[in-house]
Amino acid sequence: MLDLAIIGGGPAGLTAGLYATRGGLKNVVMFEKGMPGGQITQSSEIENYPGIKEMVTGLELMEPWPEQCMRFGLKHDMAEVTRVVKEGENFKVILAGGKEELAKNVIVCTGSTPKRAGFKGEDAFFGKGVSTCATCDGFFYKDKEVAVLGGGDTALEEALYLANICSKVYVIHRREAFRAAPSTTEKVRNHPKIELVLNSVVKEVYGDAMGVNGVLTEDKEGKERDLKVPGIFVFVGMNVNNDVLKQEDESFLCDVTDWGEVVVDLSMKTSVEGLFAAGDIRIEAPKQVVCASGDGATAALQVVARSH
Ligand code: FAD
Ligand code: NAP
Repeated sequence: MLDLAIIGGGPAGLTAGLYATRGGLKNVVMFEKGMPGGQITQSSEIENYPGIKEMVTGLELMEPWPEQCMRFGLKHDMAEVTRVVKEGENFKVILAGGKEELAKNVIVCTGSTPKRAGFKGEDAFFGKGVSTCATCDGFFYKDKEVAVLGGGDTALEEALYLANICSKVYVIHRREAFRAAPSTTEKVRNHPKIELVLNSVVKEVYGDAMGVNGVLTEDKEGKERDLKVPGIFVFVGMNVNNDVLKQEDESFLCDVTDWGEVVVDLSMKTSVEGLFAAGDIRIEAPKQVVCASGDGATAALQVVARSH
């Protein structure tokens, strides 16, 4: 029987493991289907992790984490978890291949993944002008013009955030109406630094070895526009990685929002005793390494407290 099963080995999972084992829990396993480190390892530039003064790649940032986090006894099982189910007072953690582990507590740290829009150049220029994180990359475009793609709450809220940093923000949306909240839409429509490019799709993002040079859009009449921007932020929805919480009848093990984020309180407790969620998977996550890491510590301290 595990004292704690941690699912996911990004910043939240690794930090949870560090705090749980350093807090005295003996039998703690982190199930991570790949190498520990999480999605930040895909980033080529991070400069907002406190204490790391130089700009580093995500891989460089995360490289020392596993060694430090496993120093006090955390074990890594390189396995994919398919489902977590309640088994009396405990939890059954089911792995791909059918193996099962029993755990007294579970912290789910599987993150969330921004969707891609599918336009030409999106993958080629990802991280070189195409971004899915304004908090992470907005500052690189200080006093420059950028584009935002999408018409939901995330796109419009992030457009407003970028308008505080950039000289101009083009919001490209495939329809006339926005699905974002009316109050946010109103702010965007009236913002002097935001120009709406409506009924339009991104046909192509083009550039060279240095990165993006512009965005070609096409409206419903087939009219093209060439926006000479060095960056485009894509906000076309998120996949919350909550599959492990889905039960056989498609219900969720604990409360989740309509769009799949796990509902937690300030201690990262879910609606089920002994089950916690930390990092990008939880409601209102700021989706930053420092915050995911803090969530992991918070959840682990709760597990330590309920285990003694
Ligand atoms: P993740 O890092 O997503 O880790 C989840 C882990 O769970 C993954 O390793 C995954 O393999 C594993 N997993 C998922 N499902 C399963 C399963 N079923 N079984 C086993 N393992 C599973 N943040 C910043 O603070 N600053 C930045 O500059 C910044 N830039 C970014 C740039 C890019 C390109 C990206 C993609 C993100 C960036 N972020 C940045 C955001 C940051 O990476 C995330 O907020 C953070 O990684 C979230 O941590 P997490 O532990 O919640 O989840
Ligand atoms: P979302 O609501 O699904 O919006 C995605 C947007 O991207 C939509 O405008 C959609 O256009 C557009 N889109 C989708 N695929 C596209 C493609 N391939 N090419 C071009 N455009 C595309 O996603 P979200 O904004 O990330 O929000 C997710 C959920 O979180 C929502 O329920 C949202 O309300 C919630 N949320 C709430 C808040 C808040 O309350 N403050 C903040 C952020 C998010 P269409 O509109 O035409 O479909």
